[in-house]
Amino acid sequence: MSGGGLDVAKVRADFPILSQEVRGRPLVYLDSAASAQKPQAVIDAISHFYTHDNANVHRGVHTLSERATAAFEAAREKVARFLHAKSDKEIVFVRGTTEAINLVVQTFGRKNIGPGDEVLITALEHHANIVPWQMLCEQVGAKLKQIPVDTRGDLVLDGLEELLTPRTRILAVTHVSNALGTVVPVKEIIRRAHARGVPVLVDGAQSVTHFSVDVVDLDCDFYAFSGHKLFGPMGIGVLYGKKEHLESMPPYQGGGDMILSVTLEKTLYNRVPYRFEAGTPDVAGAVGLGAAIDYLGQVGLDAIATHDRELLAYAEQALKAVPGVRILGQGRERSGVVSFIMEDIHPHDVGTILDREGVAVRTGHHCAQPLMQCFGVAATVRASMALYNTREDVDALVRGLHKVREVFA
Ligand code: PMP
Repeated sequence: MSGGGLDVAKVRADFPILSQEVRGRPLVYLDSAASAQKPQAVIDAISHFYTHDNANVHRGVHTLSERATAAFEAAREKVARFLHAKSDKEIVFVRGTTEAINLVVQTFGRKNIGPGDEVLITALEHHANIVPWQMLCEQVGAKLKQIPVDTRGDLVLDGLEELLTPRTRILAVTHVSNALGTVVPVKEIIRRAHARGVPVLVDGAQSVTHFSVDVVDLDCDFYAFSGHKLFGPMGIGVLYGKKEHLESMPPYQGGGDMILSVTLEKTLYNRVPYRFEAGTPDVAGAVGLGAAIDYLGQVGLDAIATHDRELLAYAEQALKAVPGVRILGQGRERSGVVSFIMEDIHPHDVGTILDREGVAVRTGHHCAQPLMQCFGVAATVRASMALYNTREDVDALVRGLHKVREVFA
């Protein structure tokens, strides 16, 4: 049961939800790219917070409020260390990747993007890294352009310098495609964009879960991820921004905590990152996310990366051997997910039959409709893997797919 130095049996025991049966079969959870399961340590941290420390943050002088504030800020420090950021002041707590990107669009974007300017994204993006930019472009009269993808699922970077024009104000790119698993060479893209003076936002929703990320080494301007995909709670996420950017950006939402002083005539805004955290934050969520980061540190990010790589290779081999299965996305480097279609069988039918076997996979367009259009399909079946998945899980998926074939024979 172990792979890459990871004791997967021990890891699985840390995730209580995995030990249940679904439809009379042991649960095989292959949908972590949509939302990952939570280790007991995360559940306990949230429960401990509400049981012992719950109070509002940054406001009270009483003991519980001080404790809650300390727990919240300790979580921010953990996130900063996790991303190798220079300072915890570069970490803004948000609801998730979606809100992080919307924040950048509506603050950095509104300030720096005007009529005739260009925003460059890629053909691999999740809707969360398309629609907010499209909305801004419509609002200000800017143009949305994209780096194309080839038939293997890799970005076509030959023409990047032509796409980076003097009007390009930002490049927004995913680190790992949620629909195909392609790992994008973001470091190289950032270097080439910076050479043209273009800042880069990286959508890290699918990367932080599989390998270590160093925002200083990448030199990205913004990095976004969601707690719930990182084995933490739903409703909490992170925007990393270089301090000089955050300090130059206007606030996102107005309200409590983001101000220094308010009169009817004028408000003085708080320093970063608090300027971007209006209202009561999800303190328990941040505490839970901090516990998830601690947990991953204990298991070992390198061991997780090796395990995930080995399991993905095993899954791809196993799926290729199933008659009628076509894998989409054979990019140079892949991580976490394998997307496929079955000849003449709708992905939703595949997913429904797999569920009867206790196997949970994702079916649909994976919030990446433009990418699906590039591949000429409306939907795929996506199996996504995490540190608690095993070869036995993949074998159960393959057995399920043979059942699907029998049903449709
Ligand atoms: N970007 C990518 C690459 C994703 O996979 C997802 C989640 N599927 C998102 C953004 C959006 O994340 P959230 O819904 O947690 O905001």
